[in-house]
Amino acid sequence: MTDTARSWIASANDPCTDFPLQNLPYGVFSTAGDRLRCGVAIGDRIVDLAAAEKAGKLDAAGTFAAPVLNDFIALGRPAWDRVRARLTELLAEGGDRDLPTVAMADATLHLPIRVTEFTDFYASKNHAFNVGALFRGPDNALPPQWTHMPIGYNGRASSVVVSGTDIVRPMGQVRGENGPEWTACRRLDLELELGAIVGADTPMGERLSVEDAERAIFGYVLLNDWSARDIQAWEYQPLGPFQSKALGTTISPWIVTVAALEPFRCAGAPRDNPLLPYLREERPGFFDINVGWSLNGQEMGRTNYNVMYFSSAQQLAHHTESGCPMRVGDLLGTGTISGPSRDQTGALLEMTQNGKEPVSVNGETRTFIEDGDTVALHGFAQADGYRIGFGPCSGTILPARG
Ligand code: MN
Repeated sequence: MTDTARSWIASANDPCTDFPLQNLPYGVFSTAGDRLRCGVAIGDRIVDLAAAEKAGKLDAAGTFAAPVLNDFIALGRPAWDRVRARLTELLAEGGDRDLPTVAMADATLHLPIRVTEFTDFYASKNHAFNVGALFRGPDNALPPQWTHMPIGYNGRASSVVVSGTDIVRPMGQVRGENGPEWTACRRLDLELELGAIVGADTPMGERLSVEDAERAIFGYVLLNDWSARDIQAWEYQPLGPFQSKALGTTISPWIVTVAALEPFRCAGAPRDNPLLPYLREERPGFFDINVGWSLNGQEMGRTNYNVMYFSSAQQLAHHTESGCPMRVGDLLGTGTISGPSRDQTGALLEMTQNGKEPVSVNGETRTFIEDGDTVALHGFAQADGYRIGFGPCSGTILPARG
């Protein structure tokens, strides 16, 4: 009999590890001079899935030898469930000690998927209200459609990068005192988000129900939607953010599966009004995930994914409403996760009231992000005796190339 709560890899049994046996998040890694391949994080090690499949220990149709997870994800839910069950068996106490693993410290982590497309939403009512009040005043803060449908914009897949990648401060056009100016961004911000990874293709013209959309999501990453607020404020009306959001989006290297998050399923924010039938959910669509961010190592904001108003399944269902096809590897940002109080906000725009109320960071003053600053996101779901963690999601800002 194997014990499915504990692993023969001792570091996976530490109650503080992000990667216990119950997690098993997927990523892509390489070791010195070797090729990229798929792996699973367990404690302080990575299971080499390509080598494990080659040795006949599991079956994923050869997809783990690829340098991205898209082909594995495209195999579908039965394969996800089968491989997860098999990995649990192999890694549990009494499992297979010949399973090929590498030390995480010896590995380089890469972007886990080829990001097919990137759509970013706006699903925290606190955040939408706070930002709306700063840009348009409190009377026009929340647009009339906001509580009825997920609001989003089509972002850039080309600038999605993995944790640890430096981000260059963007140049752009902003409103100046004497007309428009072209300048290095002066109000560079973060956005604390999760990203849902779509795990199924949908044909053009086909609409997903919320229930089907739920089943089409493979897993979640942490996502920092870097935002140039001065560029955004000048450009965003009437068609939404454009260059202010194209400078870079950082995601965590590990995809935490829906299967691992299932025990933490919970309700989101209370509804202000009934939703139209195509957006109604039959069961709670959120997860109890603690999320937060730090600036140069100092903890800044902390909240929970359960404050959100629209779930990723509702966002995905809404995305297909027009008949828009979705693809494996589509990335859907949840929107900035902000709770009601200042210390629960997921962006400096809200925390400093658009720079009017500076915050202290390690004894220095900040309104927005300065060159050389490092922003790190964190996230974990806490269970009794273990936690399902997301690993690192950080980036450092380099000076603009004016
Ligand atoms: Mn965003």
